[in-house]
Amino acid sequence: MIDFAVIGSGISGATISNKLNKKYSIKVFEKAKGVGGRSSFKRYKDKIGFDHGLQYISPRSKEFKSFTKKLIKKRIIKHWKGNHEFLNERVKRNKKHMKLIGVRGNNDISKHLLKNVNCNFQSELSEIERQKDYWTLKFKNKSITYSKNLIITAPFPQVKKLASKFIKTRLFKNKVKMNSSLTVLLITNKTGCKFSSFFTNDNILGWVSNENSKKRFKYNKDLWVLQSTYEYGKNHTDNYRKKRKFYTRVLINKFKKLTKLKIKKVYFSHIHGWKYSSNSKPLKTKSYWNKKLGIGICADWFGGPRLENGWLSANSLYKKINIKI
Ligand SMILES: Cc1cc2nc3c(=O)[nH]c(=O)nc-3n(C[C@H](O)[C@H](O)[C@H](O)COP(=O)(O)OP(=O)(O)OC[C@H]3O[C@@H](n4cnc5c(N)ncnc54)[C@H](O)[C@@H]3O)c2cc1C
Repeated sequence: MIDFAVIGSGISGATISNKLNKKYSIKVFEKAKGVGGRSSFKRYKDKIGFDHGLQYISPRSKEFKSFTKKLIKKRIIKHWKGNHEFLNERVKRNKKHMKLIGVRGNNDISKHLLKNVNCNFQSELSEIERQKDYWTLKFKNKSITYSKNLIITAPFPQVKKLASKFIKTRLFKNKVKMNSSLTVLLITNKTGCKFSSFFTNDNILGWVSNENSKKRFKYNKDLWVLQSTYEYGKNHTDNYRKKRKFYTRVLINKFKKLTKLKIKKVYFSHIHGWKYSSNSKPLKTKSYWNKKLGIGICADWFGGPRLENGWLSANSLYKKINIKI
């Protein structure tokens, strides 16, 4: 039996696993095919691809700044230089924040942290049961794992569904509202575009990223990531699957109209809905640990809407485990 089973390979799961792995036997279980969670990188071919979820990192806390500095030195992440346009008053104030991205893709940090960790993909945890002093974990693919302790790093509604039967905590009484959004990945003809990213003040299309400007690859076509606003995502993410073409067209048309770029041909498009994109209201606590039950929770939604909040939450949980185990 292993000491810890960690559910999720996003920044929270990767950070806590990296630390636990130095002292305990652990296994990571991830429902997707690869690492990164909401910081995933969607490969098109070879090195060419899109940052599907997380766009960039702007470190704010001292601890996270120091962590990212080390990653820059190790060439895991780098600065995203270029021409970042801010057409939205609210965002304008953040203009000075540096923008860090993965050298190959924005799941590079998770990849780096999980390098020596036993990871199991396409393993979606569907049910947990508590025996006297261990957990039985049942997965959708019918496999079963036994673990002394369990760490869950999924978005709030998913953690609540899995664990609220066992954890009688005030944590689940919180109203954590996770915003939704739609993302379109797009390949077009070369446009000669001069911007690297583009925040709008539109109520449908919120953000555009010029993936070629990240200088990870050279390609004779332009790659774009178009993200809807939360406002638009709130009303349309639940039913986008039934009308993929329609929503893709809505975002592409907005993109053309707002940027006035000469888009003559669309070679590839893909739409994805993020039901649980992020939580903008921080909770009072940064993580949860119950030593008696051997269960912990860490995730970005404890602290806010950014990757850094997941990293801080995982560090907070690790401290609690180390003191209390
Ligand atoms: C579109 C979008 C844009 C964003 N832009 C930015 C940005 O520019 N800057 C920024 O700092 N942040 C941004 N974020 C937020 C950032 O992506 C998150 O804060 C961060 O990735 C959260 O990491 P996490 O590990 O806490 O959660 P996640 O990355 O969601 O990791 C949880 C993992 O658990 C897995 N999982 C869930 N349930 C199960 C289960 N039952 N069994 C097995 N595995 C399971 C999931 O597949 C996932 O991999 C953005 C998010 C989105 C969606």
